[in-house]
Amino acid sequence: MTRRYWVETLGCPKNQVDSDKLVGTLAADGMVPATRVEDADLVVVNTCAFIEDARQESVDTVLSLDDLKRGDAELIVTGCMAERYGPELAEAMPEITRVAGFGVPVTLGTTRQAAIASSGSNGAVATVPKLDLLELPRPPATAPWAYVKVAEGCDRNCGFCAIPTFRGKQRSRTIDSILVEVEQLDVKEIVLVAQDLAAYGRDQGVGERSIIPLVNQVAERVDRVRLLYLYPSDLTDNLIDTICATGVPYFDLYLQHVSRPLMRRMRRWGSGEQFLDRIKAIRAREPEAAFRSNFIVGYPGETEADHDELLRFVEEAQVDWCGFFSYSKEEGTYAAELDEVVPPGLVSERLAELQELQDGITQQRRDNLIGSTIEVLVDEPGVGRSHREAPEIDGIVTIPDSVAVGTFIKVEVVNAEGPDLTATLLVSTTAGTVDGQ
Ligand code: SF4
Repeated sequence: MTRRYWVETLGCPKNQVDSDKLVGTLAADGMVPATRVEDADLVVVNTCAFIEDARQESVDTVLSLDDLKRGDAELIVTGCMAERYGPELAEAMPEITRVAGFGVPVTLGTTRQAAIASSGSNGAVATVPKLDLLELPRPPATAPWAYVKVAEGCDRNCGFCAIPTFRGKQRSRTIDSILVEVEQLDVKEIVLVAQDLAAYGRDQGVGERSIIPLVNQVAERVDRVRLLYLYPSDLTDNLIDTICATGVPYFDLYLQHVSRPLMRRMRRWGSGEQFLDRIKAIRAREPEAAFRSNFIVGYPGETEADHDELLRFVEEAQVDWCGFFSYSKEEGTYAAELDEVVPPGLVSERLAELQELQDGITQQRRDNLIGSTIEVLVDEPGVGRSHREAPEIDGIVTIPDSVAVGTFIKVEVVNAEGPDLTATLLVSTTAGTVDGQ
């Protein structure tokens, strides 16, 4: 009897890649995907543990899938929550059949009892041989784009971040192994991801900037290469030129804040002036460049002046997309011991003010595209993305659903609503035919 699995993925694109590889191992074990949770023999939750909200979502998802699944089906918890809190999780949630930390085959993970029993030790819950998730094969892509994870872990120590404590030090893959995966995926757009993407290869001692040859070699193999998670100090002129040369001038800058004293307290490089200089330099080089960023609000010690400085920065930078997150106290981090905690009410106020400002900026930047011609990759019937939209996190371009998935087509933007655009097919003046059909 063929066993069926259901894999639920939470968290970031890097977790999505881990799930893809996990599915690859289950398929290699002869298992097939279930179309409903209720039909699965094995239900796997690939969890996120980055911040409190993510952990709560992970717990809620485990409980809701437990309600849905058959009584005799196994419920496996893997991913960051399993790696970071394995024994505690197993102890607290009798619903869980097995806990499987990173690289532990979910069919072999430690049973609850064993996990609880091992809670006295170093927290490692698994005693079975580990798989190297980074290098595992991927099943064929199901969309004309795919994430490719080029490294695991991080060598930085940002004050608020616990990721290095459970994902470990940076481990970069070789360019060859990445290119093999890119070719196997056979998609139009590759989205390169890592905790600290621009630092790719630094741990291999092969020279400071091996992200550049990597991008160039991937760009030789696919139509579009997009980079996510760029630490601002690594955004050199050469890397900017390399990104622009790919034809996807999309800059995902992880800035987190702009106030110089607060950045020091966050143990991060940079300031608002330096970030604005970079953004202006990129726009001078490529006026069509698109920007995304993320900011933490309410980091211990954030003053009203810091907040005002961030508001001014957001106003002046005019980035296309921006995420604002309230500071989450993470055990084991530098910031967890800091004083000057910002009251939750004030954090919410500041978040709302920033979000309202940014929503207006995003809307205006989308409105500015009305009447322009853009080229989109058709991701699914009726849905496309130009170079300005990363998959899953930015807006989309709604187009007629007659255009084949996986094709590039030029369209005219006729409307903008919030983050999303509506576009029509261009009618070629000469032949009177519709371009792209
Ligand atoms: S760069 Fe900073 S925020 Fe990002 S994973 Fe590394 S330590 Fe965490």
